[in-house]
Amino acid sequence: MAKRILITGGAGFIGSHLCERLLAEGNHVISLDNFHTGRKENIQHLLANPKFELIRHDITDPIKLEVDQIYNMACPASPVHYQHNAIKTIKTNVLGMTNMLGLAKRVRGRILQASTSEVYGNPLEHPQTESYWGNVNPIGIRSCYDEGKRVAETLCFDYHRQHKTDIRVIRIFNTYGPRMIPDDGRVVSNFIVQAIRGEDITIYGDGSQTRSFCYVDDLVNGIIGMMNTENFIGPVNLGNDGEFTVKELAELVIKEVGSKSKIIYLPLPQDDPARRKPNLSLAKEKLNYVPTVPLLDGVRKTIEYFKKSLNT
Ligand code: NAD
Ligand code: UDP
Repeated sequence: MAKRILITGGAGFIGSHLCERLLAEGNHVISLDNFHTGRKENIQHLLANPKFELIRHDITDPIKLEVDQIYNMACPASPVHYQHNAIKTIKTNVLGMTNMLGLAKRVRGRILQASTSEVYGNPLEHPQTESYWGNVNPIGIRSCYDEGKRVAETLCFDYHRQHKTDIRVIRIFNTYGPRMIPDDGRVVSNFIVQAIRGEDITIYGDGSQTRSFCYVDDLVNGIIGMMNTENFIGPVNLGNDGEFTVKELAELVIKEVGSKSKIIYLPLPQDDPARRKPNLSLAKEKLNYVPTVPLLDGVRKTIEYFKKSLNT
């Protein structure tokens, strides 16, 4: 049955893919965004759809809407952007989450929180399972995001315990694909854009740190699966468990773009996690979630997107 769905951060990278998919399934979708890192062009093609609405609003201010489901995706995800105005990032995670939980409580709707692998910090357990409590610096430059997302999870579970609010919590691992902003600062978009432009590829540190990269279509399957599952509220890891060093990613991108760019090494940012890889057993067991797009295929699709979008 068609639902009325609110997507905060709906003009952002992942949010815009969610809007597209949920509209295609016949739902009414409200995309709410303050356009901090989101762009109207990400959802321009949806504006003519009568089932789609776009609201410019900041979730740190309360809002009254009548909806069945809320996907709370609003929050800058790139370290460069979330550190740019750190206090605002905390407010988005704490005040914004409180406002969205209040909305879910009022309408008796279901709310899904986009949490993050960053709640594990620089993990001492590898790969990371949902039962691991993390290794997070509470006063560092990543804390506004890491600790903000941890409090947001706490708020979800307290609303659930205290008010029986119908919550779902997912922990997203590094996701990439079309509609990332070219100067977003995240590693996949940075390397692809640098390779296409023939600029130096900037590896931070020695490139031995690892990440596990998930193509956005796989993630969207997992997100919608989690929202619509019964008797399981999470948290659950979502991502891809193929693990690569940043250097391997740089070499792959240079080869696939056919670029003459050379690799340069810059200082590693403070508190940059050394290794990250999700244990996806719980996602498989509860949601039948298995990512299907290998890094090579996803990187090729993303290169195609950036080649087109950088030209226009
Ligand atoms: P993004 O920066 O592209 O999208 C975030 C969107 O939220 C943007 O459109 C931005 O304008 C909007 N926004 C930010 N603050 C807001 C506020 N106060 N009020 C209203 N709108 C606001 O990032 P993304 O990669 O699409 O990430 C979406 C969500 O997923 C975020 O919550 C992020 O923390 C989470 N996440 C993403 C990844 C990833 O690898 N992409 C990993 C872990 C978690
Ligand atoms: N990184 C890099 N060069 C860049 C951008 C990022 O070497 O131009 C590294 C970064 O230091 C980190 C990894 O790539 O080790 C992933 O960075 P990203 O900002 O994409 O995500 P996160 O650190 O949040 O996982």
